[in-house]
Amino acid sequence: MREALHVIDNEITSLPDSATREEIDNFKKLAEKGLFQCPYCKAKLIIKYGEERGQYFSHQHSEACEVSKKIDQAEKRYRKQLVRETTNHHAMLAILHDELANQAKINSMIQLDYGYKAKPELKEYPDIWMKIGEKEYGLSIVTSVTSAVDSKLAGQITKRQRYFLEHGMEPIWFIEKEEQSIEISKNALVLWDAELSISSKTDEDKKWDAMLTELVKDKDFFAYFNYPVSMDSPTVDVRSMYYIYSNEDRTVVKVMRFLKDGEVKPYRAFLLNEGYEIPFADALVVKNEILLSQPKVEEENRKEFIKKFQRLRIQFHEQRRMLEEQRRLEAQKREQLMKEKIELEQERKKLLLQQMLEQKQQASNHAARNISYGELKTLLRERIHLTQKEQMELWTRFMPQLGLGNSSSVSDEEVFVMKKIDLDFFEE
Ligand SMILES: [Zn+2]
Repeated sequence: MREALHVIDNEITSLPDSATREEIDNFKKLAEKGLFQCPYCKAKLIIKYGEERGQYFSHQHSEACEVSKKIDQAEKRYRKQLVRETTNHHAMLAILHDELANQAKINSMIQLDYGYKAKPELKEYPDIWMKIGEKEYGLSIVTSVTSAVDSKLAGQITKRQRYFLEHGMEPIWFIEKEEQSIEISKNALVLWDAELSISSKTDEDKKWDAMLTELVKDKDFFAYFNYPVSMDSPTVDVRSMYYIYSNEDRTVVKVMRFLKDGEVKPYRAFLLNEGYEIPFADALVVKNEILLSQPKVEEENRKEFIKKFQRLRIQFHEQRRMLEEQRRLEAQKREQLMKEKIELEQERKKLLLQQMLEQKQQASNHAARNISYGELKTLLRERIHLTQKEQMELWTRFMPQLGLGNSSSVSDEEVFVMKKIDLDFFEE
């Protein structure tokens, strides 16, 4: 094993990952003097060295106690679990452990250990196990999440999340992910496969819930933000994600808070703000739970959100009003054009009537010459360019006005021709 109890300091001592020959000899001498004990059975531990394993603590005569054997095996499983992680994982875990350990020293509510040591019987481990009062947490850091479609890793993480919950731990994840997929114009965050299931629900999320429950009563709420909501009737469930990365020389956590939307791929969530960075240590402050964010910033962000909501609402309704006004004006314009067209049409018919009257005059001048069917047809269709509909109208409306039906100059043949044209139109 890598750790032992330092009998004088009464503290757990870890052997460094690598050491010089001289350092190893020094550790060996200290161990022979009885400085290190097994934390479980309190037996004296000695230092051994192997090419592959490096240096490690061992019970004398290789008589390891049961507990230490179990923990050694758990550690092996945990090391396998860590194979995919980058060297950043090691550094970030060291900060995570130190920060919480410092708080545990002065806060008796907090119990803390590495996941594999606290729960060696499990098959998979959180990096850190912590208990605050009666509540257990499993904290994990996942590094090198590079692609939004890393579905194998997503599957593993989602499974682990369920597994930790089944074993009584509330999982908290710190995801090392350089880029978040944000659709700014739609106020949306596109989530990596696992993110929806591993997001956290903290006290701050509940405060956001309370505020948003009121705001989403406005049926146009999502339209104000141009967000294409996929839920039929939005249920307010605010969640948070914690992205971890190095910024210059310090490790920071980016707090992203979103409103959970549908559970259909690709997972998209309504982004509440652009998120903000806090030092890792600040995120790990323990009150009733691990804070993970800064309450003052959150309070400010909620106020800002309400202001933004009010501003967008005014803009939205102003735009809608302008659009309606524009539509009204266009309708008015169309109506006006239609009116003008009708007037023009009437003007044309009036002219036509006049022409007909003149034709009639000419006809009577020509000593009541009978007009033949063929001539009349030519007159109407080719010289005056009447459509069939207009010719019909002519017979039914204008002819009686001209007195063509009962004029003495109209011969029987004329009446016959008119009736024949009428019939022709119906047939055509
Ligand atoms: Zn032992």
